[in-house]
Order: sequence, then C-alpha cells, then structure tokens
Amino acid sequence: MRQDVLPELSELQRIIAAGGSQLQSRIVCEVRSGKRQFPVHAITLGNPSREVPAVGFFGGVHGLERIGAEVVIAYLASLVMRLQWDSVLQRQLESLRFVFMPLVNPGGMSLGTRANPRGVDLMRNAPISATEDVPFLVGGQRISSRLPWYRGPSHGPMEPENEALCKIVEEELLSRRFSIALDCHSGFGISDRIWFPYAYTTRPIAHLAEMHALKDIFDRTHAHHRYVFEPQSRQYLAHGDLWDYLYLRACADPERTFLPLTLEMGSWLWVRKNPRQLFSRHGMFNPTIAHRQQRVLRRHLPWLDFVARAACSGARWIPTGEARQGHRALALKRWYGGTVR
Ligand SMILES: [Zn+2]
Repeated sequence: MRQDVLPELSELQRIIAAGGSQLQSRIVCEVRSGKRQFPVHAITLGNPSREVPAVGFFGGVHGLERIGAEVVIAYLASLVMRLQWDSVLQRQLESLRFVFMPLVNPGGMSLGTRANPRGVDLMRNAPISATEDVPFLVGGQRISSRLPWYRGPSHGPMEPENEALCKIVEEELLSRRFSIALDCHSGFGISDRIWFPYAYTTRPIAHLAEMHALKDIFDRTHAHHRYVFEPQSRQYLAHGDLWDYLYLRACADPERTFLPLTLEMGSWLWVRKNPRQLFSRHGMFNPTIAHRQQRVLRRHLPWLDFVARAACSGARWIPTGEARQGHRALALKRWYGGTVR
C-alpha cells in the first residue's frame, strides 16, 4: 500500500534510518484511511533502565495540526544528528529514557481532519467525563461523528491510536518514578500556551507544586520566554482528555510523579500576518509560508530541550517539605484564585 503521501511520515522514517542502532523504533499500530494504511511509530532512545526518569514527546494527535508533529520530528532530528558528536547528549542518554510518538494520527493528517479516519477526536476519546459544564460541542460530543469533537461511542474501547499511545505511556513513562510528557498542538488563540491537567474539572491536580516548580525553573532559565503556563481548565473544560486519564492512572501509585504537558502553539499569530490563511484548508493551524514555518519550529525547540533536561534532573528541582507547600500556595494563588473548590 502507498505510504508516500505524508511528507511528515517520510521525514520521520528517514530520521529513524539515520539513527541506526542508537535508537529503537517500533510500529505500535496501523491505521487505515480509505485505501491507504499508515504506521504509527514509537521511537525510544537512552537508558532503558526503570531506575532512570523518562521524557515523552507526542505530536500529530489532531490531523490538521501538522506543525505539532513537525516540531516533535524536528527535535528528534536534532537529537539524532547530535548523537554523532555531542558527548553532553551521550551523558544525558545514560540518565534518561527518551520516547517519541510524533505522528499519532497519520490517518487524520492524510485526510486533513482534526479527527482520526473514523471521525473520532482523539483528545475527547478517553473514558473520563467532565464533572462541570463544558462548552457545547467543543468540550466533546456524542451526537454524531460527522460533527467535530466527537468522543466516540460511550463504553466503547478507545480508538486504536489512543490505545497505542496509552500502552507506550504505561510501558515507558508510568513504569518509572518520574516522567514528563509533552504533547504538541496548534490552533488555540493568540499566545503560545503550556497546559497541564485538568481538563475535566476546575479542581487542581495533586502535583500542582511540581508543576509550579517546573514553571519557576523555566521562567528563571528562559527569562524572556513568551509562553503562558496554566492549567487547561482556565481556558475551557472538556470530556475525554487523554492526559487527564493518564495522569489519574499515574496517581494510583503515590510514589510516582508523572507530569503531562501540552504545548498549544497560538496560530492566530501567523494568521494575523497572512489573513488569507483563514481560507486555506490547513491555514488556521499551520504557518503556510516556509520562513514562518521555520521560525515556528526554531522558536519551540528550546522548550522541548528544556523539558528533556528537567525530566533528567528532577532530583535537583522537585520541591519537598516546606518548599513544596510554598509552591502549592503560590500556584493556588496564581491559577485558582487562592482557593480550592
Ligand atoms: Zn490539537
């Protein structure tokens, strides 16, 4: 079957080949889209021991948001090139496990749809429902797969792409005491945002102090960054969020710390510079001019590299005792109006 219709997939396969024996690649599921079939790849590198922390990078969950997949692929490409000469990276690989799933929804990407080929929005498909009101349709709906934000049938299994993603997260991230995941999206609003759970409730997560400490070291390391760091619930609530679901699973073991993050690249920035993009099929979600695309890719790579370094170095910044209480209090004030509902 033809597989050459997705440039992102061809690029990913070229990078996997270039990595040779220094990385492992497996096909975690195959997705059919019309007459075509696409593999979903998972790539791992670094120390496989359960004793070291892990970091996971995910992209292409929404088929329209190609730039998300491209950012993850660009970071993987840069690591693969550095494997050949960078001894600092070699040391990092001794104390960290890297996981990549850059193209979770290749079927949707080939069709130019947010949903997968079965019409299901993978970020509304996890078995978890919001406990407060969600915005109509956008928050996830079970009216029809022909409408956007379709959750899939109730009580059905998750979509194969999501099953595969969850399996990788369980095997590679939740099997360790500390891990961070970053899922890259685009298309929401003007600013670049970094979201953490929850999406299903306005209540704070158990690891609010750790999230605040992570934001704190990021602010101090990249003083002029432009990201808005916040819980997703500050923008809107949704049913079926995969990272809510995986975070709650991770919390079943109190010894485990799993910090899932979502990068939302604010596409209105590039639409404003080229309003004609509003009328192109991919334009709202992706910069269409090559130099702008390169600038978007470049701008976010330092954030991805920061996440990998933070995952590797948790012992140096994860707060304990009074410091942890202090971070939690600051986080409640910053993001939750100082009170817990
Ligand atoms: Zn998205």
